[in-house]
Amino acid sequence: MGRLVILGGGESGVGTALLGKEQGYDVFVSDKGVIKEKYKQVLIHNEIEWEDEKHSEDKILNADIVMKSPGIPDKVPLVKQIHDKGILVVSEIEFASKFTSATIVGITGSNGKTTTASLTHHILKQELNVGLAGNIGDSFAKQVLEENFENYVLEISSFQLDDIVDFKPHIGVITNITPDHLDRYNYQFERYIASKFRITMNQTKDDYLIYDADDTVIVNHLKNNPVQSTLLPFSLTKKIGNGAYLDDNNIKITINNNQIIMPTTKLTLQGKHNMKNAMAASTVSHLLRIRKQTIRESLGNFQGVEHRLEHVLKINKVQYINDSKATNVNATYYALECADTPTVWIVGGEDKGNDYEELFSFVNEKVKAIICLGVDNEKLMKTFGGMVDVIVETQFMSEAVKIAYKITEAGDSVLLSPACASFDLFESYEDRGRQFKNAVRNL
Ligand code: ADP
Repeated sequence: MGRLVILGGGESGVGTALLGKEQGYDVFVSDKGVIKEKYKQVLIHNEIEWEDEKHSEDKILNADIVMKSPGIPDKVPLVKQIHDKGILVVSEIEFASKFTSATIVGITGSNGKTTTASLTHHILKQELNVGLAGNIGDSFAKQVLEENFENYVLEISSFQLDDIVDFKPHIGVITNITPDHLDRYNYQFERYIASKFRITMNQTKDDYLIYDADDTVIVNHLKNNPVQSTLLPFSLTKKIGNGAYLDDNNIKITINNNQIIMPTTKLTLQGKHNMKNAMAASTVSHLLRIRKQTIRESLGNFQGVEHRLEHVLKINKVQYINDSKATNVNATYYALECADTPTVWIVGGEDKGNDYEELFSFVNEKVKAIICLGVDNEKLMKTFGGMVDVIVETQFMSEAVKIAYKITEAGDSVLLSPACASFDLFESYEDRGRQFKNAVRNL
C-alpha cells in the first residue's frame, strides 16, 4: 500500500496508525512532543515504528501519504517541506472514511459542535447502530477498524477539513460561524469561513447541508458561493419551508412535506443556542427516519455535556454553573443570554483578540460582579471597570470561587464562562472546569 507517515502520536494519530497497519501500509509515527505512555504501549504492542521528541526528516520525507494531526499548523517548516515534495497530506477523517461505507453525519461550526454531535448521537443511537467520533471520544480511525457501525456522527474542526480530499458527509451540519482560531488562517476571517464550508466540498444534491439561517455569515457565504448540497436551514426567527423553525413553543421540522413537531418545553438543555443545537440534531434525526416519539423523548432526557453550562451545585440557594468550554466571546454571549438571575461572572484567561462589545447589554442587565481570572486581566478590568460595582482579579480558581461565595446572596448564580482560552493558568478547559467544580464542592 505504500508508506504512511503520521505526524502526531495522539488519539487520532495512533488510531490512524492501527487502521493503516491493518490495511497493509508501512506505518511510521513521529511526534515532536512526548507521546503519552498509553499510546506508546499501543504502538509497541502492534509493532508500529515510532519516534517522539523529534521529527526525523529522512523517515518522513519518503512517505507516500502523510496523516497530519489537526493540531499541527501548515506553516511548520516540516509540513511545508512535505507539501513542496508533492506528498499527499490528509486528515484522519479523510484517511479513515476511505475504509468505511457507513452513513456519515459531519458536524462543524465555531460553537456547539460537541453539544450537537453528542445530542445527535444520543437520539440516533436509540434506533440505529451509530458511532460518535471526530474531535470527541475514541478516534474515528480506530472505530472504523474495530467496530461495525453503520452510521457515524463526526464532530469536525476546521483543521480536519483543511486536509480533506474526497471526504464528504451524507449529512453536513454547520452550527454557526464566528471568528475563532484566526491565527491559523492568516487572520483572515474569509479563509476560516471557507475552511468550514469545505464540509460541502464533495457533496452532491443527494447530500444535505443543515445550517443556521439566522447566521448572516453563513447565509452571505452561501449566497456568494452556492453549493451542490440540498439545503435544510433552521431558524429561530423565520418560517422555513424545508428545514426547521420555531413556531411559538414548538420546533417544526419539514422534509419533503413530511412535518414533525417537537414541543420546546420538552428540551432539557437551556438557552437559545441549545434550541438551535436541538433543531440541528432533530433535523438530522428526521432525515434518518428516526421516529418522532424517539426524538421527543431523547431531547427530553439528554443530560448535556460536561463543561457546557453544566449545573454544578446549589449552595445557600446560589446556583454554580460551569461553562469552562466557553473559550470565545460568542459562547459566553449565549451563557449570559440565558442567565435569569443576578450573576457573578468569572471570566478571563488567554485573550484571542476578543471584542467584548456584544456582551455589554447583558453585563449591564444581569451581572452584579465580575471576577477576572487570568495572568493578564488588564483588558477586562479596563473594559468592564465602569460597568459593575464589584470587579476583582485573581490567578487562583479557589480564590475566585471563595470571593464569589462571599458576595452572592440567595437567588444569585455564579457563572464560570471565561470567553478565553485556558492555557495561561490551566492545562486545558477541562482542567479549568474541574478545578472550578472542586472549588465549589469544597465551599
Ligand atoms: P464546540 O465543540 O464547537 O467547541 P461545544 O458544544 O463544546 O462547542 O460548546 C462550546 C461553548 O459554546 C459552550 O460554552 C457552549 O455553552 C456554547 N455553545 C453551545 N452551542 C452553541 C451554539 N449553537 N452557539 C453558540 N454557543 C454555543
